[in-house]
Amino acid sequence: MARIVMKFGGTSVADLNRIHNVARHVKREVDAGHEVAVVVSAMSGKTNELVGWVENMPKVAGSNAPFYDAREYDAVVASGEQVTSGLLAIALQSMGINARSWQGWQLPIKTDNAHGAARILEIDGADVIRRMGEGQVAVVAGFQGLGPDNRLATLGRGGSDTSAVAIAAAVKADRCDIYTDVDGVYTTDPRIEPKARRLKKIAFEEMLEMASLGAKVLQVRSVELAMVHKVRTFVRSSFEDPDAPGMGDLMNPPGTLICDEDEIVEQEVVTGIAYAKDEAQISLRRLADRPGVSAAIFGPLAEAHINVDMIVQNISEDGSKTDMTFTVPSGDVDKALRVLRDNKEKIGYDVIQSESGLVKVSVIGIGMRSHAGVAASAFRALADKGINIKAITTSEIKISILIDGPYAELAVRTLHSVYGLDKS
Ligand code: ASP
Ligand code: MG
Repeated sequence: MARIVMKFGGTSVADLNRIHNVARHVKREVDAGHEVAVVVSAMSGKTNELVGWVENMPKVAGSNAPFYDAREYDAVVASGEQVTSGLLAIALQSMGINARSWQGWQLPIKTDNAHGAARILEIDGADVIRRMGEGQVAVVAGFQGLGPDNRLATLGRGGSDTSAVAIAAAVKADRCDIYTDVDGVYTTDPRIEPKARRLKKIAFEEMLEMASLGAKVLQVRSVELAMVHKVRTFVRSSFEDPDAPGMGDLMNPPGTLICDEDEIVEQEVVTGIAYAKDEAQISLRRLADRPGVSAAIFGPLAEAHINVDMIVQNISEDGSKTDMTFTVPSGDVDKALRVLRDNKEKIGYDVIQSESGLVKVSVIGIGMRSHAGVAASAFRALADKGINIKAITTSEIKISILIDGPYAELAVRTLHSVYGLDKS
């Protein structure tokens, strides 16, 4: 017997038939004798619709401020999950399963006060554990919790993944199954490289990189949480027949296991290739090369909530002037340029240049820690295809390369094959 948290995303609960199908997945695990808690998202498209209602409320004539109260935003957008948790409980009950819905405030899932992007502080898992012991399935509304002001708080878009992992940690589940519309995590985006393979296992740290670099399978925060609490997390499909052979396998269900690196016996050097579109590059030319320039540049950008990613600083020839290049999301370029121009005196540069529409392609793998030459083969392969590299950053387990947008797909395919990821 095991304790399993099952999470179903928006496309998995998009209509009543799919909710019925989800109930069959839950029934399979209950019938096998496991203790089960379920976390649901809103029906797909629902949260967008709710957000749209909040944002499009007509305003008083003359006011064009896009203002709304974050607590009321939460009250509205959290409702999507309330609906699906109730509907799934009804579907389970109709199959003879003892089930009960739970809203975030009922457990409670306690969050901080950052309405609209709240972080989970604490979950009281006692009720869920007791109910599971009595053979009841708790169906928990994802994406929402209770703030210190005693009001509903939502966790940011995609937050029901985080709800699921947090609940799995709170009830000490053996496994957290994230059911979605893809059947696992792939070596790269299969829409770009049809030879992409589904990974059997991926380490938490690698998944963190994949998720934050644009592989949109899981909310990044849910992976952080899984890593901290060592929650074995499966990504698997809800669209397969719930009763197909192997679906109820306790150790090796179909899907990708995100787990501690110690659990991965045959570690490949490179695990996957991720990419992030819509990057922009900004260069400040002929800066004074003195202590404090970096702070003068990146301090005001941070205050303006602009996320700076890759940073490249040149060494000056004569110790007096240098160049600094960095990337920001394309959507933030105008704002960043404004901030930098406003601070021109303080920073002290000659010229500012920018370019949008760039793509960051990243090679990820914890095996890199113990292998030399991984970066060199990437550079060689891209050069052979005539792809120019604009900036490079590396970490222990990642190499990121900035290139021109139109080369993104070629670069992804080239790197995917250079590390043999298309061969199983
Ligand atoms: N329904 C929420 C959203 O669309 C939360 C989630 O699906 O994870 O962002
Ligand atoms: Mg999601």
